[in-house]
Amino acid sequence: MNLIILGPPGAGKGTQAAFIASEQNIPHISTGDMLREAIKNGTELGLQAKAVMDAGNLVSDELIIELVKERISQDDCKNGFLFDGFPRTESQAYALDSLLENFNTSISGMIALEVDDEILISRLLERGKDSGRADDSNREIIENRISEYYNKTAILKTYYQRKNCYYGVNGIGEIDEITSRIIDVMSKI
Ligand code: ADP
Repeated sequence: MNLIILGPPGAGKGTQAAFIASEQNIPHISTGDMLREAIKNGTELGLQAKAVMDAGNLVSDELIIELVKERISQDDCKNGFLFDGFPRTESQAYALDSLLENFNTSISGMIALEVDDEILISRLLERGKDSGRADDSNREIIENRISEYYNKTAILKTYYQRKNCYYGVNGIGEIDEITSRIIDVMSKI
């Protein structure tokens, strides 16, 4: 199973991704977590990404593609993986397809959490109180992330629909409810 979880910031991707990955026994690869780890460790990558992330903008495609290329070459990805927060632009999706071709494989499904903007903003402001994430700390930055999503990422719905592997899930409700909707959808992939 090569899976992608998609959704605007605050849709609950991380929570549901952890569940899917453990259920399928595949690694959960969050590019946001990888970048935050790089920042924490003060690596060159972290230095390049920090200001961009703090402002709520997207990190460059080149940087992300390099990061992912290195990650999916690792042994634990042999039987599949779940991407969270990647791809986030159409060119990242193209790059992923060609990377996977080299491994003679392809994406099995994209699970997309669908949530309204107003709910997203209040969830993120709430999360910001204890997550310590600079990009969750104020409304303007949050709105910028949501607009980056609609300008650059939302197009991926069409991209994966064309490949017949887009699975939309209602992302509003209790965590458990959403998980069971995801379980339903997974049986179709
Ligand atoms: P969220 O979905 O809540 O915004 P993430 O942890 O997925 O959280 O991403 C946090 C930030 O990391 C993004 O706003 C962006 O700056 C950067 N980032 C993560 N993944 C990517 C990606 N695939 N392409 C570009 N930037 C990324």
